[in-house]
Amino acid sequence: MNVLEIRDLGVDYLSGTGAVHAVSGVSLDLRRGEILGLAGESGSGKSTLANAVARLLRPPASITSGSVVYRRQDGSAVDVLGLGRNDLRAFRWKELAVVFQSAMNSLNPVITVGAQIDDVLRIHAPRMSRAERTERSVELLQRVGISADRRRSYPHELSGGMRQRAAIAIALALNPEIIIMDEPTTALDVVVQRDILAEIKALREEYGFAVVFITHDLSLLMEISDRIAIMYAGRVVETGTAKALHRTP
Ligand code: ADP
Ligand code: ADP
Repeated sequence: MNVLEIRDLGVDYLSGTGAVHAVSGVSLDLRRGEILGLAGESGSGKSTLANAVARLLRPPASITSGSVVYRRQDGSAVDVLGLGRNDLRAFRWKELAVVFQSAMNSLNPVITVGAQIDDVLRIHAPRMSRAERTERSVELLQRVGISADRRRSYPHELSGGMRQRAAIAIALALNPEIIIMDEPTTALDVVVQRDILAEIKALREEYGFAVVFITHDLSLLMEISDRIAIMYAGRVVETGTAKALHRTP
């Protein structure tokens, strides 16, 4: 069953000299609970596609065609591109969260990692008590390998790997159905990268969210993905299982 259905999506970047067609006629499904690897050379449109789905595009980006439908477990459907300001606030974090390449884009540099999880819970889960929020923050951080006492650390006090783990913990805070990860391990060294990939897989088993995992690194992609979509010049030119694509000469 699909959790997300992208149909005929087009995104342009407008400038004085014309439009760059960053995403052109993309149709792509994300299945519930799968890890979909999104690959393609730099500039092929991966981030633009992800940001369109997460509704993070800002001018000069402009959606020129298509639709994005999010399907809840109860069968109801959400027109993602049509969400208004208030609904968007609930959609992000509760249904879809994003982890960026640089933790500095996912994390607020002047708030401790524990307080950032607490903030997300306070705003989006107002019925939770302060004690419940603290308990949940500690539990989430521990789950990604950050000890309870480190929850009072600011992002810059953590290693790059730990910062990405904290960003993942925050993304998990409200149990979203979809997590978009845009090159989340690219800036990390290989050993740390492998650890975090294993962690993402384990978390997926436990929580059941679907992942769109963007990377230009093919070996990484083969390792983590259930299914792969390859972009070229703004289009999805190939989709299939890692195995099937591996056999393609
Ligand atoms: P990828 O994530 O695969 O590297 P992007 O989505 O970042 O690709 O870029 C797709 C295309 O859109 C490229 O041609 C890129 O130059 C262009 N682009 C991306 N961001 C902007 C922007 N803010 N303004 C103008 N063009 C952009
Ligand atoms: P602004 O509206 O001023 O551009 P932001 O871009 O910081 O503010 O955030 C807009 C919305 O996106 C907020 O509701 C915030 O909760 C959400 N948001 C920010 N970062 C993420 C992320 N990594 N994952 C999911 N939602 C996010």
